[in-house]
Amino acid sequence: MPAFCQTARDSLSAYVDGELPPDRAAEIADHLTTCPACSAEYQALLETVAALRSQLTRFTAPDVLRARIRAAVAATPSESVAAEQIRPSARNDRRRLTRALGVAAAVFVGAALGAGGTLVAAGGGRNAAPVASEVLASHVRSLIPDHLTDVRSSDQHNVKPWFNGRLDYSPTVLRFDDQGYPLIGGRVDYVGGRPVAVVVYGRRQHMINVFSWPTGSGDAPVATRTVNGYNMISWRHGGSERWVVSDLNAAELRSFAALLQRADSVSS
Ligand SMILES: [Zn+2]
Repeated sequence: MPAFCQTARDSLSAYVDGELPPDRAAEIADHLTTCPACSAEYQALLETVAALRSQLTRFTAPDVLRARIRAAVAATPSESVAAEQIRPSARNDRRRLTRALGVAAAVFVGAALGAGGTLVAAGGGRNAAPVASEVLASHVRSLIPDHLTDVRSSDQHNVKPWFNGRLDYSPTVLRFDDQGYPLIGGRVDYVGGRPVAVVVYGRRQHMINVFSWPTGSGDAPVATRTVNGYNMISWRHGGSERWVVSDLNAAELRSFAALLQRADSVSS
């Protein structure tokens, strides 16, 4: 890839968010009119953002949940009072919205995991339930706009090196475009108080988060759970623990997990 394309790709996310200085934004805009490859990447990014936003608005909360979110938002009075008194700028509005969404996500996860006993029963391992709830919380948080990926690319040769220096292990990053699961990107998230790799794939409008981290425990067979409409599949193999989470239907998510497992057993 030409050097300018590489730097343009690195700036695309900031470009979409309108966060670049004007001269830099003009350079990118210019480049997009002449470079089909970068322009395609830009389109894909716009579509991902649009898909995420439509996903979020399509979600209708049950009345009880809505009431709990309202109560949680109302419980942070200093924020809203201060913001109203000083005529909030657009940026403040955005911050409040992000915060409200964060609260909504947290409350939603709380609601999803309200029946913790179900998880323990389905989980098997003694520590499965806390890990499952952290993984699910991370998945729900990732659906808030701009939280899905730290590095956005459909090319594993961009995503895999991005983890170097950010983690003390190198996650498996593969392409399954041919099977209909395009690579979207990656991010570092926190599970069990430590940074973990998350590789993000898509399936139509659904997002699939694949968490992985090294483990000292032995291999464990595939375990599946469904929590409030989210399907979760986990296993341990060859010193790695993996969690696959999505609102994609269970059958397709199992097919996807099987692709990952097959790749695991080839590589170890
Ligand atoms: Zn280019």
